Amino acid sequence: MPRILDGVAIAAAIKQEVAEEVKLLIAQGIRPGLAAVLVGNVAASEIYVRNKVTSCAGLGIFSEQIAPPASVTTEEMLALVAQLNAREEIDGILIQLPLPAQVDTKALLDAVSPAKDVDGFHPINAGRLQANRPALAPCTPAGIIEILKRSGIPISGQHAVVVGRSDIVGKPAAMLLLHQNATVTICHSKTRDLGAITRQADILVAAIGRPGFITPEMVKPGATIIDVGINRLTDRAGFDRFFAGNAKREASFLKRGSTLVGDVDPKAFELAGAYTPVPGGVGPLTIAMLMANTLRAAKMRRGIQ
Ligand code: NDP
Repeated sequence: MPRILDGVAIAAAIKQEVAEEVKLLIAQGIRPGLAAVLVGNVAASEIYVRNKVTSCAGLGIFSEQIAPPASVTTEEMLALVAQLNAREEIDGILIQLPLPAQVDTKALLDAVSPAKDVDGFHPINAGRLQANRPALAPCTPAGIIEILKRSGIPISGQHAVVVGRSDIVGKPAAMLLLHQNATVTICHSKTRDLGAITRQADILVAAIGRPGFITPEMVKPGATIIDVGINRLTDRAGFDRFFAGNAKREASFLKRGSTLVGDVDPKAFELAGAYTPVPGGVGPLTIAMLMANTLRAAKMRRGIQ
């Protein structure tokens, strides 16, 4: 039986550690603070931001949600970021993506002070990560490393194959795995004979954005599979494709009208040595690492080790 890597439990342990450190900082008169900027009314983004703000409250981190209207301009957003960069009580600035089309997302992310860039998206932090210098690393990839380490899964010397090369997940995940001494292969939509490469993976990271894309034929038996994908299935045919006969999933699908599947076909998990489920795998780590990055930013800005 493959081992299920419980992201909920690992995230809870990290949050507990963060809460303890926050308590120590508060005793010294320092309260880490996060500003979450959510533009407009995108339902999924609202849920993400609410979860982030609620998590802060649970850990003793100050948080503030700022909600510019969907019609906001790039200039207005740049002015807001400049204010947040200057505010002493704000250690982390999170700009929830995607932004409306009229806003220049890159200009905005580049305007966030690298010291407050808790998402790790600023080119300076991306460069520091590549150079293996202390940096605020993107939360989801950092969470992948925490899952592997805290689950006792060896990384050094292993062949890690990362499918996906986004700046948010694939590329930084590959870099972090490389720094842990994995031999890393990065694949993408132009990769030829993808299955031949993924079948070599001791650690397979799927960050593609396509439901159940990694099939059993693409997996080496015994591999560790990290499924980053979050895809919502709302139609019956999609549900049956992955979960036919799964009574528990079916009950929740019928109740909610949807269910989540990752970028890995659940049948492929049966071949794995260990895997992260969807939901309850990588997802919870993203918020836990945002909390950890906010604490880290608060300490780094004040020169606290
Ligand atoms: P992007 O769309 O930015 O990147 C997807 C990557 O997958 C691209 O590099 C693309 O290649 C590659 N790809 C697409 N099709 C194929 C294919 N047929 N064969 C091989 N590679 C392919 O997505 P993200 O990286 O932002 O997100 C990936 C997934 O992770 C999504 O499901 C997203 O919802 C999820 N996610 C989950 C998070 C969490 O907290 N668990 C956080 C962030 C994302 P190319 O570059 O050539 O186009």
